[in-house]
Amino acid sequence: MIREQLIEVEERIKAACQRAGRDRREVTLIAVSKTKPAAMLQEAYDAGIRDFGENKVQEIQEKAPVLPEDIRWHMIGHLQRNKVKQVIDKAVLIHSVDSIRLAEQIEEEAAKRKLRADILLEVNVAREESKYGFMEEEVLDAVLQISRFPHIHICGLMTIAPFVENSQNNRKVFKKLFQLCVDMKSKNIDNVNMDILSMGMSGDYEVAIEEGATMVRVGTSIFGSR
Ligand SMILES: *Cc1c(COP(=O)(O)O)cnc(C)c1O
Repeated sequence: MIREQLIEVEERIKAACQRAGRDRREVTLIAVSKTKPAAMLQEAYDAGIRDFGENKVQEIQEKAPVLPEDIRWHMIGHLQRNKVKQVIDKAVLIHSVDSIRLAEQIEEEAAKRKLRADILLEVNVAREESKYGFMEEEVLDAVLQISRFPHIHICGLMTIAPFVENSQNNRKVFKKLFQLCVDMKSKNIDNVNMDILSMGMSGDYEVAIEEGATMVRVGTSIFGSR
């Protein structure tokens, strides 16, 4: 079941890459496994998935010990500052850095462990009240501030696009995040890379890939509804 769903998603990713004239290897599929039991993740693993996305620290803590060690865990949900210490050495990438204060906490915990945390800045491109993330006009300042933290490496940007019936309606959101990424890149800020663009979910990952996504976060289309 999961294997079949993955084959379907993979086909769609390939087709989107082809339409956009992109190499399939430019796009990482993150299987979003929140609320799903470890057995389902194991199935996806057996079908070749190595990148898993979770939105709760506790779920990573529970699942990681019972699953293969080479899984790359992505923290994609809003992260509370008091949870940073539990996730800092478990997640390969924190996609959801949405405030300077959170970045300060990550810096502190990373310094304690003498590691460098890879992060993305979450941008609320569609300016939705209900969503976390920096507003577009705040991103440059945030990048400049966080780039001075020696134990943090900014790797790119992330957005959660609005829920829409027609995925084409999110194209403008993805275009905007891509442009923002290009703008930041052109500033050549020390300690900042803008190589990762995390955008696109089950409803709209193909459009996101057409607009330059390098990571897509797909849950429902792989594991079924939650
Ligand atoms: C749940 C979630 C996803 C996956 O959503 P689906 O619509 O199930 O593919 C992607 N990104 C984030 C941040 C999420 O919380």
